[in-house]
Amino acid sequence: MTERLSTEQLRLCDDVRKNYYEITENISKAAEKSGRASSDITFLAATKTVEPEIINYAISLGLKKIGENRVQELLSKYDRYDLENADLQFIGHLQTNKVRQIIGKVSMIQSVDSMKLANEISKQSIKNGLTTDVLIEVNIGREENKSGVLAENCDELIENIGALEGINVKGLMCVPPICDTKQENFKFFDNMYKLFIDISSKKYDNVSMDFLSMGMSDDYTEAILSGANMVRVGSRLFGARIYR
Ligand SMILES: *Cc1c(COP(=O)(O)O)cnc(C)c1O
Repeated sequence: MTERLSTEQLRLCDDVRKNYYEITENISKAAEKSGRASSDITFLAATKTVEPEIINYAISLGLKKIGENRVQELLSKYDRYDLENADLQFIGHLQTNKVRQIIGKVSMIQSVDSMKLANEISKQSIKNGLTTDVLIEVNIGREENKSGVLAENCDELIENIGALEGINVKGLMCVPPICDTKQENFKFFDNMYKLFIDISSKKYDNVSMDFLSMGMSDDYTEAILSGANMVRVGSRLFGARIYR
């Protein structure tokens, strides 16, 4: 795919290229340190506020997964993503009344934290003859006003979602609290990993713990060392976000 880019965009692409190789190198080192191969780790780029031309440039470098946060932004960019070469996921908070707008457009919804939302995903998927993969978002820091199910309620939610048609649970995701120390950060990631392993050992219908999605620009290497196999990196790849 060739696109005409402005001078500003070309300059940004230069940065994106350097950042992309730096991140993949860091992922590779962290994977190795934790006894895995770089191919075991999925690098998803968080693309909110990023123009499709720049996203597509990153895809041309080898990026395979992109994730959007907001339904409206996703829809407005949808026709311009290079989805022949990358896979689009939804990673933000999703309102039940917007589910139908993205079913069939995204390969996974990473942020399911209630039966109400799961029921609607199930309903809309069935209507479209599809099965939608989801991750369960865990509020691992027990923060008020933050989405995600509490760890102790995770099991029950997963079992109940597994019983629905048109929806498969593929793992867990989290956005831990902002931490002052790396040590504190590791504690949240380690707790997520324990939960992930615990649920992996149970045999629920339509549930497979394939993905543990955690780690962003400032902590993706720590997340991998704690057992993440999917990281979601935005600003480290694309630069500071400019909200227009
Ligand atoms: C924006 C976002 C990211 C990436 O954040 P950065 O700190 O820019 O890497 C990851 N996950 C979610 C859910 C996001 O909204």
